[in-house]
Amino acid sequence: MMLRGQMMEMPLLISDLLVHAETWHADSEIVSRTVEGPIHRYTYRDLGKRSRQLANALKSLEIKMGDCVGTLAWNGYRHLELYYAVSGSGAICHTVNPRLFPEQISYIINHAEDQALFFDLSFLPVVEQIASELTSVRHFVLMTDRANMPKDSSIPNLRCYEDLVNSHSDQLDWPEFDEKTASSLCYTSGTTGHPKGVLYSHRSTVLHAFASSLPDSLDISAQSAVMPVVPMFHVSGWGLPYSCVMNGAKLVLPGPKMDGVNLYELIEEEGVTMAAGVPTIWMMLLQHCQRNHLKIHSLKRVVIGGSAAPESMVDQLAEHGAEVRQLWGMTELSPCGTTSTPKFKHNGCDIATLRHLQGKQGRPIYGVKIRIVDDENQPLPHDGKAFGNLQVKGSWVLSQYFRRELDDNHTADGWFNTGDVVNIDTDGYMKITDRTKDVIKSGGEWISSIDLENILVGHPAVAEAAAIGIIHPKWDERPLMVVVLKEGMSATRDELIGFYEGKIAKWWTPDDVAFVDELPHTATGKLQKMKLREQFSSYKW
Ligand code: AMP
Repeated sequence: MMLRGQMMEMPLLISDLLVHAETWHADSEIVSRTVEGPIHRYTYRDLGKRSRQLANALKSLEIKMGDCVGTLAWNGYRHLELYYAVSGSGAICHTVNPRLFPEQISYIINHAEDQALFFDLSFLPVVEQIASELTSVRHFVLMTDRANMPKDSSIPNLRCYEDLVNSHSDQLDWPEFDEKTASSLCYTSGTTGHPKGVLYSHRSTVLHAFASSLPDSLDISAQSAVMPVVPMFHVSGWGLPYSCVMNGAKLVLPGPKMDGVNLYELIEEEGVTMAAGVPTIWMMLLQHCQRNHLKIHSLKRVVIGGSAAPESMVDQLAEHGAEVRQLWGMTELSPCGTTSTPKFKHNGCDIATLRHLQGKQGRPIYGVKIRIVDDENQPLPHDGKAFGNLQVKGSWVLSQYFRRELDDNHTADGWFNTGDVVNIDTDGYMKITDRTKDVIKSGGEWISSIDLENILVGHPAVAEAAAIGIIHPKWDERPLMVVVLKEGMSATRDELIGFYEGKIAKWWTPDDVAFVDELPHTATGKLQKMKLREQFSSYKW
């Protein structure tokens, strides 16, 4: 007979992370570079108080449990207050990526049926552009103070964040509800077609915060000063806005300025011990240090994810005394899945062995199961040689996309297909060898190759076009178009690049065009991107 354990049950709620930090780490600091310019400083005590004021303000705006509230914002204290006030109230904090182009932003906000939209000053122009298309949004709130509100704006009833917060009391008991309640929402734009939403729960978010804080994961503690350079609109900022609050770590939020000069200044002045972000960011920081003969002093660890960390970057950061830990994750995983942390047996190993490990995407964090399968879904050995499709399972892995019925991403036995092709060694270290998806990743952001191709084949002289990502020293990858021209027709590189103008976000524009006589195809007529990438493997920008 089953005998039930006799322990208390406490729902895992996001508001509890904040109550804990406010009570036991009240004077730990949160430092933000603001959009308006100056550095803002306050503590977990202030974050708690203002989040309760904001939660009362949300009530006054008739935001109810289960409603989505959109944000278009950088990493800063007001965004953090929204993370806690919205989710803590039982509503859904929907972080929207402002780097998407306006049509995608509108689609995402309308699909989520956001009831309110909070946005930083930087995004006022884009919100003014799309406001009339946002059918569900009842309240537009500009995340600034009265002094910085625009004199006039085309947005009707534009509200001021500081007025809203300051006009409400901080008296509030966070509501208690089922831990499986939805807490936050993030859309991926990694595939073709419309972006897909991943709906996280309080339970998945708190479990992810526990697991990602572990010493072998991101190693977050009350002794850390953490700088999330990964934007808070990307997969909940890799969970750092939760794990840092859970542990009472000092938080350093870089706001809109994620360039080498500003990051260096913040690291040095705030004594940052750990920072996390995509490789592009570290490239800019290292170049700034090199050009100006600067040494980074406090940084002990840099967590790099989103794209592979080049070995030269690992070497250079080591010279500054910072250990690189690679993180593999996805929006669909909240996002942490694996980290490349060495084991006890690697203590004292030579530098080549260490670099070999750091070059891998890492071994699974407890709570995430990983395996590789062949095209018939048959499991493959974990011998570090066999490579196949990476599948994952776990308490912070999505079970289905938001408001979508059809799903070919899950197997019948409940594994999620990641779209990454990898090998896994006997210690669990996973290495990405390719992507089944052909999107291009530039500075941590996806560019859809199919979209680029579809546009270019619209040019009268183009017979066929393929977009591939080519390694780029700053942006990790940039798009190169490989083009077959129609017989008897001609077009120049500049003409084809100019053809994209006004059709896509500027940063999606391909960097170059290569003309070929034919493209490689499979027997069923599909483009063989892998072959094409091989063909252009020695291409240099
Ligand atoms: P996203 O959902 O935008 O975070 O993108 C997830 C995808 O980014 C993964 O499926 C991988 O293809 C890629 N990715 C994430 N982390 C890494 C990493 N450390 N190295 C290489 N690729 C990565």
